[in-house]
Amino acid sequence: MKYVSAGDIEKYAYCPLSWWLSKKHKVVSEGGVARHRQAEEELKDIAKKEKILEVYEKASLAISVTATLAAISGIALMYTGMEETWNSFFIILSFLWLYNSLFFLYKHSKVDSILKPRYEKVILISSIGAIILALISILLRIPRNPELGRFVEIVALLWVISANILFFHSLSVSEKLIEKKVRYMPLTGEIEYIGAAYEGEEIVSEKYGIKGKPDYIIRLNEDYIPVEEKSGDSEHPYFSHVMQIIAYCMIIEDKYGSPPPYGILKYRNRQFRIPYEEKWKKAVMKIRENILRDMERGEAHRNHRSKEKCATCARREFCPEKLI
Ligand code: SF4
Repeated sequence: MKYVSAGDIEKYAYCPLSWWLSKKHKVVSEGGVARHRQAEEELKDIAKKEKILEVYEKASLAISVTATLAAISGIALMYTGMEETWNSFFIILSFLWLYNSLFFLYKHSKVDSILKPRYEKVILISSIGAIILALISILLRIPRNPELGRFVEIVALLWVISANILFFHSLSVSEKLIEKKVRYMPLTGEIEYIGAAYEGEEIVSEKYGIKGKPDYIIRLNEDYIPVEEKSGDSEHPYFSHVMQIIAYCMIIEDKYGSPPPYGILKYRNRQFRIPYEEKWKKAVMKIRENILRDMERGEAHRNHRSKEKCATCARREFCPEKLI
C-alpha cells in the first residue's frame, strides 16, 4: 500500500505543480511554524492542567469525606455528658458547617455550567456533614473518651479547612484553564491528540492509504474531531484546506472506528465546521489517485487558470508555468 500524506493532498488540491515543486523546494513559513509551536505548548498546558484539576477534585472529595467521618467518630467518642462549653462548641461548629453549605449553594447558582458539577459535589459533602454534626451535637451527650474525642474533632476541623483551601485552589486553576481552553475547543471537549509542530506521531490509515498529523484532535462525547489551524485570515474555507481536513477525518474514521461528524478549519479570524460527507471523501480519493499517478510518471502540471492562485503561491519563484 502506498500512502499519501494529508499535507500533499492539500498542496495538490491547490495546484498539482505546486505539490510537485514542493518536493524539491521546501518553503517554510516562519509565522506558521511559530503559531503551531505556540498552539502545541498551549494545548499541552491545557492537558496538564486538566489532569491536575482531576487530582485536586478527587483529593478535595476524599479529604471532605474523611473529615466528616472523623467528626462523627469524635462525637461518638465523646458520646454523652459533654460539658456545656463543648456542647456549645459543637452546635456553633454545626451552624458554621451549615453556613459553609449555604455559601456553596449560593455560589453554585452563580457559576458557569462547566463548574457546577464541582460545586454540587462539595455541597453534597458539606450538607451531609452539617446535618450529621447538628444531629450528633444535639443528641449525643455521654462521652466515652472525651480527650480523644476533642482531639479528633479538631483534626476534622483542620481537615475541612484544608478541603476548602484545596477547592478554592482548584477553582482558580479552573478559571485559568477555561480562559485558555475556549480558544481551542468547546469547554466540554478533551484533547485527544496533539500533532501541531513536529512532535505528534503520524496517524496512518490502512483503509484509505492516507497518513498525516492533524494539528490536534478533540474528543466531544463519543466523537473525535480533527482541528487544523491556518496562519492567515479567510472569510471562507479554501478548497485545498477542505481536502486536507477531510483527509484527516478519513484517518480518524479508520483509527477510532467511527466517522467524525465534521472537521474544524480555523483561520485567524474565523473557523468553519466542514461536514464529513461522501462527496468530499471521493474528491480526496481522486486527488490521492492523481498524486500516485503523477509520482509514477514523474511530472505534474498546472490545472487552473487562476492568476490569483499564482500570485499567492509559495512556489511561484521556481515555477515554469506561473501565470503572473
Ligand atoms: S505559480 Fe501558479 S502554476 Fe505555478 S505552482 Fe504556483 S499556483 Fe501552480
